[in-house]
Amino acid sequence: MYQFPKCRKCDYGDLVPFSDFGSQGAPIHFKAWVCTNPDCGYNIKIRNGDIYIDEPINDGQGYIRR
Ligand SMILES: [Zn+2]
Repeated sequence: MYQFPKCRKCDYGDLVPFSDFGSQGAPIHFKAWVCTNPDCGYNIKIRNGDIYIDEPINDGQGYIRR
């Protein structure tokens, strides 16, 4: 049974991991954690060793639309 970490921003949603949303079909070593609370939208992305916190999710992937 998985226990996802609580969102630290809203303390209400859970942070769930996304590991692949490559648009070219290639596996991307790209980790993202997104809050399940649609009113919060807190997210953390780890890309090439850099951490992006609370980056707006609006890249056309549409994977977290409300
Ligand atoms: Zn949240």
